[in-house]
Amino acid sequence: MSVPLTIAVDGPAASGKGTISRRIAVRYGLRHLDTGLLYRAVAMLCAAEGIDTTDAEASGARAAMLHPSDLERGDLRSAEAGRGASVVAAHGTVREALLGWQRAFADRAPGAVLDGRDIGTVVLPQARAKLFVTADPDVRAARRWRELSKDRDIPYRDVLRDIEERDARDAGRADAPMTRAGDAALLDTTEMGIEAAVDEAVRLIERQLGR
Ligand code: C5P
Repeated sequence: MSVPLTIAVDGPAASGKGTISRRIAVRYGLRHLDTGLLYRAVAMLCAAEGIDTTDAEASGARAAMLHPSDLERGDLRSAEAGRGASVVAAHGTVREALLGWQRAFADRAPGAVLDGRDIGTVVLPQARAKLFVTADPDVRAARRWRELSKDRDIPYRDVLRDIEERDARDAGRADAPMTRAGDAALLDTTEMGIEAAVDEAVRLIERQLGR
């Protein structure tokens, strides 16, 4: 049987990594896992069940019981879920509980695109291709604000603050901090629309695959 093709896409919130990953998965005929959803689900389940998200043991235990259907909750895309996710994601207990989940997903044929913060560094260090997708914080905040303000009134400055706090927490944590893997190709989408970003992602991946 052929070895599954794995592609790691990391980067901060609203960098474009989610859309790029979905499009790449279609292009290469791979499955796709948005790993942020795992952390978001753990945070929302803890909140719903009265588990203190700053309690590493209790939230790690909840993460160990995560079920695939938990990823279908309707509230996972909320700003609250994003904030909560970056709190539980700082616990080694939670990260450890979710590691096997992510690797098992990637290991099945024909392979997968995983996007997150530590895919190229920790989850799939042997991935065949790796991207680190980024953009300036104010551009990322404007993208997220446009998305969120479709449903409700939300001040731009709150979205920017949220993004900056999350970046600092994700990059500053001791366990699996968000960082570019040494062998990941950098893709800065600050000045790019989504089509140009996907084209560039494909070009970088093709190069890493030696095509
Ligand atoms: O990508 P998304 O915004 O859904 O991620 C939510 C949070 O989950 C991130 O801010 C980060 O703290 C955490 N996360 C992580 N490692 C991943 C994916 C997400 O720590 N691989």
